[in-house]
Amino acid sequence: MDLINELKLMREVMWSNPGYMGFKDYCDTIPVTEDDVRDAEARLKRFAPYISKVFPEVVDGIIESPISYIPNMREWLVEYSGGPVPGLLYLKRDDLLNIAGSIKARGGIYEVLKHAETLAIKGGLLSEEDDYSVLDSDPFREFFGRHTIQVGSTGNLGLSIGIMSACLGFKVIVHMSSDARAWKKAMLRSKGVTVVEYPYDYSIAVEEGRKNSDLDPLSHFVDDENSKDLFLGYAVGGVRVKAQLDSMGIVIDEEHPLAVYLPCGVGGGPGGVAYGLKLVYGDNVHCYFAEPTHSPCMLLGLATGKHDQIAVEDIGLDNKTEADGLAVGRPSSFVGRIMEHLLSGAFTIDDKRLFQYLKALYEREGIFIEPSATAGFSGPIFTRDQYKGKEPVQLVWATGGSLVPQEERKFFLNK
Ligand SMILES: *Cc1c(COP(=O)(O)O)cnc(C)c1O
Repeated sequence: MDLINELKLMREVMWSNPGYMGFKDYCDTIPVTEDDVRDAEARLKRFAPYISKVFPEVVDGIIESPISYIPNMREWLVEYSGGPVPGLLYLKRDDLLNIAGSIKARGGIYEVLKHAETLAIKGGLLSEEDDYSVLDSDPFREFFGRHTIQVGSTGNLGLSIGIMSACLGFKVIVHMSSDARAWKKAMLRSKGVTVVEYPYDYSIAVEEGRKNSDLDPLSHFVDDENSKDLFLGYAVGGVRVKAQLDSMGIVIDEEHPLAVYLPCGVGGGPGGVAYGLKLVYGDNVHCYFAEPTHSPCMLLGLATGKHDQIAVEDIGLDNKTEADGLAVGRPSSFVGRIMEHLLSGAFTIDDKRLFQYLKALYEREGIFIEPSATAGFSGPIFTRDQYKGKEPVQLVWATGGSLVPQEERKFFLNK
């Protein structure tokens, strides 16, 4: 297969999904529904009084990020690529999401809240009609303190799960892969989270975390490779885009399709967002995943149809990238199967280019995001010929960055 050869050689590729279908033709065949997403949305509303009490910086207790118009970056992309970038360019600012500073504030925090609610209701301490700000009290913290939450992570998921769980009073163990940044581990430890480090990659951290958690009946494992709850938390983010664009006066229709470029690791974040977007925009939204040339796990799983039965190491890749949030060698099969007909395409990006985008965005728009979060910027270049005669709205999903320390920022900007 030609594509696999290109991937082996670590060339940047654009893959158009031959399995792409109209949303209505397959949405009933996938293991999540619109009702599941609406249920997640309602649960996050129930928690809003609690969130605004313990994190007063979160407006109305709803963790959400703005969309920025970035015309200067669009101009830069035109100069940089020597060709047109059709339509208008926007940036989804998940780098600014409260509490966790990344897209993981969507799925990770949602799953922890749902688990807490389930335990508290079962324990007879809470009902759905209550004001959830009561969770910020000693009886609840003592109750949750008998339970443990565990997760395996390259860094950002650990941050979001760790911070939220510790705040509710849970014991938390985060199993970190070798590529996790030192400052992320330090921040978690400062909040009383137990961080276990492994000299191996993400898959091993997840496997060890899962094993450890299974030994303890009072432990819940947040399974990044397989969690419907994580997926639903992310999907709410996709659904909410519509109200946001509506309020900005941006109409999405056949003549003005929405093209969205999402950095992909194991797949839950971008997959959930893409599903939420499809629910509100149907066939007028086109979703693309971006992955490092060293870790194109989702593209490999989708293009071969093998999903989690193939890893990037199987084709000789090293899964080593500066995009730590994307350093995943084996994709989620749960997400991959949902993406089979949903995804318009996927592309790979060289690490060098991540830093070029990072610097350009900082210089042209004054916005700093982390290396992983810049991966989507190749999207409008790769897809430029697909929107001829249309006025697409191009949305690059910036997935993280606001918690990155100053020293680390300087280092990235000089790379
Ligand atoms: C986790 C992460 C992603 C990708 O999310 P997955 O669910 O792993 O696919 C993208 N960008 C950043 C910054 C992340 O932390």
